[in-house]
Amino acid sequence: MPNRKRLKSYTIPLSTFENAMHQFDQAAGKLNIDKGLLEFIKYPKRSIIVKLPVRMDDGTFEMFTGYRVQHSTVRGPAKGGIRYHPNVDLDEVQALAAWMTWKCAVVNIPFGGGKGGICCDPSKMSTNELERLTRRYAASFYDTFGPETDIPAPDVNTNEQTMAWIMDTYSMRSQRTVTSVVTGKPLCIGGSRGRHDATGAGVVITVREALKHLKMNPEKSTAAVQGFGNVGSIAALHLFRLGVKVTHVCDVFGGLTNSKGIDIEALIKYVKEHKKVVGFPGAKPLDIKKLLYAKVDILVPAALENQITEKNAARVKAKIIAEGANGPVTPEADVILKKNKVFVIPDILCNAGGVTVSYFEWVQDRIGYFWTEEEVNERMERILTEAFDGVLKIALENKVDLRMAAFMVAIQRVVEVVQLRGIYA
Ligand code: NAD
Repeated sequence: MPNRKRLKSYTIPLSTFENAMHQFDQAAGKLNIDKGLLEFIKYPKRSIIVKLPVRMDDGTFEMFTGYRVQHSTVRGPAKGGIRYHPNVDLDEVQALAAWMTWKCAVVNIPFGGGKGGICCDPSKMSTNELERLTRRYAASFYDTFGPETDIPAPDVNTNEQTMAWIMDTYSMRSQRTVTSVVTGKPLCIGGSRGRHDATGAGVVITVREALKHLKMNPEKSTAAVQGFGNVGSIAALHLFRLGVKVTHVCDVFGGLTNSKGIDIEALIKYVKEHKKVVGFPGAKPLDIKKLLYAKVDILVPAALENQITEKNAARVKAKIIAEGANGPVTPEADVILKKNKVFVIPDILCNAGGVTVSYFEWVQDRIGYFWTEEEVNERMERILTEAFDGVLKIALENKVDLRMAAFMVAIQRVVEVVQLRGIYA
């Protein structure tokens, strides 16, 4: 672990993985746990890098680099999404895999943590090229993936179609259909009702609980949402349905604002057709750099990590930050936000609705019997509200923020299992 004080005197920001490790260290420091045991659960169990040659549509070959990290399999199979983005590297995937371990433990589902990714720019690739890349990636990890070992899901720039290709590639090699090897699949091939909306809907369940705790009225509250993909658009929709006025939204191409509130149902229809929020007639254009500093009650960063840092945290005016994205707030920013009494709902709690319903999808695939959307939503609601209440209780008892409390709960759950299982030797 690098010395943050020493590194702070340099201008190089700490990496995403170092941020994740720092969060772990802070919480572990509050618990009375054997140092060697903490080292065992802190670092990734296995990190694999593969080279992926792909024939492009023009007949040329291009090389891509793919990653899969299994951070922990102590509580169950590694579980976590696959990201396609030009910034994907081992550091980022390791951080995201570690957060998955703690997220699954916070909501107490029987999974460890994993994550994968490919360094690529999907906006510049055709559907056929993406299919070939995905299948080559899935084939490279045939021995790694499996319903009892490592179960991928969608993340940034991957979706139900990507999961269908992975499921099919794995199934062809296994000579039988194995639906439970991935989650986030289309309904007709073993997907779960409610999975598409689960992450964004779960974000708003935690916001609703936070509003209750802070005695704020949703109908008198305003919100800004950064990112309008799977998580951001559905979080915005559920905030809108809760009666919150969503006054600011943006995606990577541009932003929108309307002080009277944006009609999110209409905006989602617009984005389906135009693939971006820009140009929506029901709001004025907004510079995306200004969204994080909007004068709103609730801020939902739902794009990428490291958005709120020591450089801009003081400019945040929201009373609640709901981390739809993974790692949008750096540890240095956390200190500033805490001083300014901003209530941060940490990613490992806030966006855990997605992995919770992924767990339900895996259960349904394995028993071959599918639940109604009401059953899925009711079970997710129960798991998330119980997790929120449990984390809040620890936070109040120990006078720590919610991130620290969530990590404390998660670390204790993983440690308990290691102690019971023992170390195989
Ligand atoms: P997505 O690809 O569906 O959407 C990402 C959105 O962010 C897009 O609208 C994109 O335009 C926007 N964006 C990208 N860079 C931006 C920038 N610099 N400024 C503003 N907007 C930007 O991805 P997603 O699945 O919604 O994931 C978003 C975040 O949520 C990620 O951090 C991901 O790890 C996390 N997450 C996703 C899930 C899930 O189930 N999909 C679950 C838990 C956490």
